[in-house]
Amino acid sequence: MSALTFVGTSGAIEPALASQAQNLLDTEGVSVIPALAIGAITFWAAGLNRRSKENLYQSDEDDDLGVQKLLYYAEDVWAFFGPLVLLLYPVLVLVLTGIVLLLLYWFKRRAEAKEEKAKIACTNCHELIYSTALACQSCNQSNQNPSAIDFFGQIKAKPVRDRDEHAYKLVEKKRCPVCANRFQEHHVHQSCGTCGHELMQDDRFATRYIGRIDRRVLKVLVITFLFSLIPIIGLIPAIIYYRIQLVAPFRLYIPRMRNMGLRWGLRIFHFALIAFQWAPGFGGFVAPIMAFTSYRMYRNSFKRQLFSKSMDIAGHD
Ligand SMILES: [Zn+2]
Ligand SMILES: [Zn+2]
Repeated sequence: MSALTFVGTSGAIEPALASQAQNLLDTEGVSVIPALAIGAITFWAAGLNRRSKENLYQSDEDDDLGVQKLLYYAEDVWAFFGPLVLLLYPVLVLVLTGIVLLLLYWFKRRAEAKEEKAKIACTNCHELIYSTALACQSCNQSNQNPSAIDFFGQIKAKPVRDRDEHAYKLVEKKRCPVCANRFQEHHVHQSCGTCGHELMQDDRFATRYIGRIDRRVLKVLVITFLFSLIPIIGLIPAIIYYRIQLVAPFRLYIPRMRNMGLRWGLRIFHFALIAFQWAPGFGGFVAPIMAFTSYRMYRNSFKRQLFSKSMDIAGHD
């Protein structure tokens, strides 16, 4: 086949070669034509390509609007800063979220100090109890008008309407469902240091506790999606919102050193997701994906802790 191509393109065909070629043409006649055709098309295309390049160069020279220059410039800038932006974007988001979380923490500490001062006397034994407590930690006397707690776990001016519901809200904020004192350990199974209430000993309570969080998932995903459509500024409230609603109720009871590999894997995955949150449309999915993956991971850890009752209170690390 290569001999034929040579014959076809050289042009100087010796009579002997020509007859040899004729023989070959007779046997391989069908294939020599496409070979020549491809050669011709390649040559023509190469010329066209060269001409079109010249055309492009010329039109670039009189690029009055400067559009091409701008495009080339943008390409250069992106090549240089693009990877940097992808790295700095999540760092910026995380730093800003950290600042907001620190502010929230400061408000929380202030509210706690205020709460200590707002303690009320038990009607039976006169021991000072939290106004949010459902009962006295000393004599178990019921508090007839406990104060409600808000989204952030701070005292509301309003009294509690549903006492059952209030108990779950207290546990979500890592507080005893009876006396409202704070649980000290990072473990599902622990007892209140003040009144001795055994947390999650009641299976129905534990199941309902998880169920309450599960029912929020759809709402949280929709709200975080809407927030997440707004670059940077939207992501911060979205992260704080899903952490309070879906993650904290589980995470507060999981030993800090548990599942470190999984936790870091999730962090790296979230970091990569945030790097593309600026992308229109895609950005909306960033916070919901972060919310759902965190929720599933901490929920699983929580359930595993819940069923490992044998480890019990000694299991805190
Ligand atoms: Zn009392
Ligand atoms: Zn208690």
